[in-house]
Amino acid sequence: MAFMRFFIKSYGCQMNLYDSRRMADALACAGYETSADLENADVVILNTCSIRDRVDEKVFSDLGRLRVIMEKSSKDILIVVAGCMAQLRSKDILRRAPQVNAILGPQNIHKIAVVIDDLIKNRAMDIIVTMSMDTGGKFQSLFANACGRESVSEYLTIQEGCNNCCTYCIVPFTRGREFSRSVSDILEEARNLVASGVREIMLLGQNVNSYSGGNFDKQKFSLAHLLFELANINGLKRLRYITSHPKYVDQDIARAHREIEILAPSLHLPAQSGSNSILKEMNRGYTQDEYLRCIDLLRSYRPDIAFSSDFIVGFPGETDWDFEQTLKLAKKVRYAQAYSFKFSPRPGTAAAQMDNQIPEKIKSERLLILQKLLNDQQTEFNKSFEGSQLNVLFTKEGKHKKQIVGRSEYSQSVSVYANTTFVGDMARVRITEVASHSLVGMLE
Ligand code: SF4
Repeated sequence: MAFMRFFIKSYGCQMNLYDSRRMADALACAGYETSADLENADVVILNTCSIRDRVDEKVFSDLGRLRVIMEKSSKDILIVVAGCMAQLRSKDILRRAPQVNAILGPQNIHKIAVVIDDLIKNRAMDIIVTMSMDTGGKFQSLFANACGRESVSEYLTIQEGCNNCCTYCIVPFTRGREFSRSVSDILEEARNLVASGVREIMLLGQNVNSYSGGNFDKQKFSLAHLLFELANINGLKRLRYITSHPKYVDQDIARAHREIEILAPSLHLPAQSGSNSILKEMNRGYTQDEYLRCIDLLRSYRPDIAFSSDFIVGFPGETDWDFEQTLKLAKKVRYAQAYSFKFSPRPGTAAAQMDNQIPEKIKSERLLILQKLLNDQQTEFNKSFEGSQLNVLFTKEGKHKKQIVGRSEYSQSVSVYANTTFVGDMARVRITEVASHSLVGMLE
C-alpha cells in the first residue's frame, strides 16, 4: 500500500472524539500516517454529529471546501463521512456531496481500515455505505492501541446507544439500542491507558449510569461496581463519567461518590426543562421533584458535589410559565456549570412533528435569560473558591511561557505558573484569581 496520510475531523460530543481516536488507532495499525491538516491528507474522515441543524451545515460546508481543494490541486482525496449524520442523512450527503467515497454509521467505524484499503485498491469502486447497528461487533474489533498515547486525560466508552426515546433526540436512530461493554474489556483498556501514562479517565455513555456490564464473576455489574473496580488501578488519579440520566441515579452511585477518593465530585445531570408538562412531552421520564430528589440524594452523601446540566428552551408548547419552572429549577440546584440550547427540530423525531412550535424570536429571548442566570451561577460557584485550595490534575502546557493548565476536582479549568514537569501530576493549588469560566492559582 502506497504511503498514505489521513486526517480525521471530529464534530460534536466526547463519544465522537473517542470513536475518532479508535479510527486513528485502527489506521495507524494498518500502516497509514496521520496528516497534521486536511489540505495535506490523502484520506479525509469527517466524523459527524447531528444533534442540531447548524452542525449538519458545518459538515456540508467542509465537504464543499474539500471539493474546492481537490479541483484546485487536481488531487484525488478519498473522503469518508462517518458518525451520526452519516447514519441519519446518508441520502442527503450523497445527493449534496457526490465527491464522498464512503459513508460509515457510528457502529461501523471499526471497518475504517478495510474500507479505505478497498477504495485504494479499486478507485473506480462505487460508494461504500455501511450502516448496520452492530455495536457488539464494533467493540469486539476495536481496541484502544494505547501505545504512544501522550495525553494525561482520556475518554473510555463503556456504554453506547439508548433505550429511552426522548422525543427531541436522534441518538436512538443513530447509535441504536443500549449496549454495555463487558467489565473485563473496560478494565483491560483502562489498565493499558494508565500503563501508557494516562492519569484521568472519563467514562462515556449516552446513559452512562444505566450501564449494566453483563455478568462479571457471576455478579450483575452496575456503574457503581465498575467505578469501585476501576479505582483499584494503580496510577489512576482521577475518574469521571458522562452523561447520566436522572432515572438511574441511585444510592450505590451516591455511596461511590462518598467512598471513592479518585472519583471527581462533579456530575453532569441534564434536566432539559423544569416544567413537568414539558418533561412529559419530552418523554424524559421524571418530574421536577424527582430530579431534585436525585440532587438531594447525591448531596446527602457528598455535600460538596458540583452539578452541571443541559437545558433546552423553546420546546414545542413551552409557555412563559413552563419557562419560569426551568429558571426556578436552576435557582434551586445552583449549577457549577450548565449548557443551554434552543430547541432544534431533528428529522425523524416526534418533537419535530409536534404542533405549537415556538417562534425563533421567543426561543432566543428565553435562551438569553437562562444563559445569564447560568453564567451568574458559574461565576458565583468559582468565586466561592477564591483563597482556598483545590486538587488540580495538570493536563497540558498553557498559552504563556512556564504556564501549565489542568482541571480541579470540580471540573474547573485552573492555570498556574510552574515547571512543565508537573504535567501529568496532581497538586494542591491555592486559588488567587477567579474569572467566570476559569481560575488562576499558585502551587502550594
Ligand atoms: S436519554 Fe439522552 S441519548 Fe437517550 S434519547 Fe434521551 S436525550 Fe437522547
